[in-house]
Amino acid sequence: MCQHAPMMADHNAGRRAVARPRAIVAAMEGGSIGLVVSVHDVAPSTLPEVRWLLARLDELEVAPRVLKVIPRASETEDVRRHPDLIALLGEEVARGSEIVLHGLTHRLPPGAVLGGRAVDRLRARCFAGSAAEFLGLDDEAALEAVIEAGTIMEQAGFDAFGFCAPAWLARPSLSAILRRCGFRYACWFGSIEDLRAGRRLRAPAWGYMGVGGAVEGLVGLEGWFVRSVWYPVAGGPVRVFLHPQGAPRSRACAATLRAIERLRRSLRPTTYLELLDGWRG
Ligand SMILES: [Zn+2]
Repeated sequence: MCQHAPMMADHNAGRRAVARPRAIVAAMEGGSIGLVVSVHDVAPSTLPEVRWLLARLDELEVAPRVLKVIPRASETEDVRRHPDLIALLGEEVARGSEIVLHGLTHRLPPGAVLGGRAVDRLRARCFAGSAAEFLGLDDEAALEAVIEAGTIMEQAGFDAFGFCAPAWLARPSLSAILRRCGFRYACWFGSIEDLRAGRRLRAPAWGYMGVGGAVEGLVGLEGWFVRSVWYPVAGGPVRVFLHPQGAPRSRACAATLRAIERLRRSLRPTTYLELLDGWRG
């Protein structure tokens, strides 16, 4: 058994674990479908930009939201040593926001060899840079990293039920490791995996990557496709990510916030746990 085992056994166990497409479309037409906005890479070094993003989301009345926290981006960035960040996370949780573990360090270990599927290794080389932490960890190291990440957040005072590998990249065995450690779900770029039910809720994410250049253009195009083609055919839920890096000065981030503003008029902000527990009208 893992040391990190979030308490979740009685969390609305009787509710439907995964919404069905028809129900989702009906909810969308009725204006009650969920809108999950995630702020990624929450860490001591990104705190000013994270605060800026959260203030913009407040203006758009997007709460609750999801905060993807890097527990130990470096030795000096251990969340436990940063009371200002802990205070912010506490305020967010009190408002109903949800904390998701976003790897342990968010960095590929020095000298690590990328593993996993060929397509994921290719994605890592093209888009993820040094962020593909969990493609570089074998099963034993991944288990240790997950346990340490969970322990750090527990000692900082927070339970996390979800895990999002940095850059949404990991070896396929990570799902079993997370399940063994008691996590309820895993976030992937194209879906949310309900680890308890063993099913995936198909829902592509789009948003602001925080890297600029051609990648931002590609992700912008993907977001346009999801909004224009995917949602009318497959429905929601709507998943939007925002990275803090460069956010206050970025036109791509501003465009993403405008898209959120439009969607917010008919969609209800929610969290992943709520999504997986079924639609609450
Ligand atoms: Zn990240």
